[in-house]
Amino acid sequence: MIGDKYGKNADALLSKKLFLLDMDGTIYNENRIFDGTLDFLSQIRARMGRYLFLTNNSSKSVEDYVKKVSAMGIPAGTADFYTSGQAAVFYLQQQYPGETVYCMGTRSLVNELRRSGIRVVTEPDDSASVVLLGFDTEVTSEKIRNTCIMLGRDVAYLATNPDLVCPVSFGYIPDCGSMSIMLKNATGRTPFFIGKPEPIMIDCVLRETGFAPADAVIVGDRLYTDIAAGKNAGVDTICVLSGEASEQDIETGEIKPTWIFDDVKSIWKVLSI
Ligand SMILES: [Mg+2]
Repeated sequence: MIGDKYGKNADALLSKKLFLLDMDGTIYNENRIFDGTLDFLSQIRARMGRYLFLTNNSSKSVEDYVKKVSAMGIPAGTADFYTSGQAAVFYLQQQYPGETVYCMGTRSLVNELRRSGIRVVTEPDDSASVVLLGFDTEVTSEKIRNTCIMLGRDVAYLATNPDLVCPVSFGYIPDCGSMSIMLKNATGRTPFFIGKPEPIMIDCVLRETGFAPADAVIVGDRLYTDIAAGKNAGVDTICVLSGEASEQDIETGEIKPTWIFDDVKSIWKVLSI
């Protein structure tokens, strides 16, 4: 039998074929790759099956991520990522086909929406019937003002991800969830969040890869996004302690992962036996 940090039976991990990995706090911290990440990833490809990176961060496109992880020595192509921006494209196409979207997000997110054929505006526009808020690392007071103008109209309101903060080298910066709180204070409106913990990203990935929920496992460091998304999608979860969640958070919180490991290196060690 193999076990997690607390000796809980983890034999089911040996038959997993799809590893859905969070990135920040799980395989690296901003630009510093964690010890054991490369071993863990090559083990998955050699013995288990496939890995795919799931990220709530909508400020970068998949191409940006391929560049970023390739620079760390991680083997990955565009098909190995799924971002909340991609899930937003899917959701908009399903729920609001043909509608014009006002987007407060990075140029990268706007381009991703446009490439998929969605009509996007970034200035107040009467033809827009949906507002999409992303993690906007290029935000300006003018963009905030424009978004408040749009939210005062009769529009649907979506946001890519509910994360309150994004980890950076010196600590944290406000993420999409915090920006949505700022906008709520001004407009009274709360968005529907597309990324984790909603199961939309996981459902999309399972459908595209053809794996069943039982074949997959989520590995992440946040209880209220990564682990909750796994629960909502009916997929087993591993919480690693290399990022946000602490042992105490898991103990006292309501969202419990299937397994707990210190970091991806410990998962690799256990699966190596
Ligand atoms: Mg994370």
